[in-house]
Amino acid sequence: MIAQDKLTHLPERFPYSCQWEITCRCNLHCVMCYTDCFNRPEAIRRELSTAEILRIMDEIAEAGTLELCLTGGEPLARPDFFQLYEHAIHRGFLVTVFSNGTLITETHADRFAALRPHRIEISLHGMIRETFERVTLGQGSYDRCLQAIGHLLNRQIPLVLKSTAMTLNQQEILDIKQYVESLGTVTYKLGEEMRPELDGGAGPFQYALSKQDLAELNQQDSDLQRDACRRDSLEPPPCRSGMHAFHIDAYGQLQLCSGNRRQSYDLRTGSFQTGFFEALPTFACEWKAPHEPDLIRPRMHHV
Ligand code: SF4
Ligand code: SF4
Repeated sequence: MIAQDKLTHLPERFPYSCQWEITCRCNLHCVMCYTDCFNRPEAIRRELSTAEILRIMDEIAEAGTLELCLTGGEPLARPDFFQLYEHAIHRGFLVTVFSNGTLITETHADRFAALRPHRIEISLHGMIRETFERVTLGQGSYDRCLQAIGHLLNRQIPLVLKSTAMTLNQQEILDIKQYVESLGTVTYKLGEEMRPELDGGAGPFQYALSKQDLAELNQQDSDLQRDACRRDSLEPPPCRSGMHAFHIDAYGQLQLCSGNRRQSYDLRTGSFQTGFFEALPTFACEWKAPHEPDLIRPRMHHV
């Protein structure tokens, strides 16, 4: 992510940063996952084909997009993942990959090392195998995730490890953070929010921590407390969605962001230029405060 103050010379509306949920497929079924409801054969059959993704990727490259985050689901669950990834690198994007890590083999790590990503972000749900696999519902996922972290570290791939704080792992968050810090070059991120499932289900919320539990967790660590204060700030940074940032889902729908999919523009049938410059500006977001466009800010910490 490029700092906001480096973006001041961009036009007011410019498609700088793309988050692309290239699939809802995943080899795991995490209890708090919001995409797992579409990890089903009939939904997967509707996802963008390789040719469609490459065509749209070329359109957004030609429009000037620099940051491209490939997420899922599990991006590596797509059999064509490296074809897409390597095309993205050759098109000049700064590519970030969000992954659960468990499908990253030594061979994959070699491919990442040959064409390096901007960074890879891996979810680390616990430091105890039972905790980790109670979250992922995937036997063997803990060992495979730690092995992948080792493969990537051995090749000096920029890495971020992150966890979502929830009832199942709240006792291990500080241990995870300590482990990440012991790796030296790796950044740790703690997420606090649960999202509703894409089909509207509320399943993930049963694992959400109360405000008090979150506050007590953050108070135990100065970095976490500082980040929590920043998030709770009354002056969050301006929302760039629709101005400098955009989201594409697994079916080719262009949206403001992954947290607001109420309105979409179909990139299967329309061009990215039309979608970004004509459709997105008409999309509403109730969380944006009603200021001048360049001062639009989220009302609260929300997605
Ligand atoms: S690894 Fe990610 S995409 Fe897969 S089930 Fe877990 S949260 Fe969902
Ligand atoms: S304010 Fe709206 S558009 Fe911006 S990030 Fe939040 S949900 Fe998305």
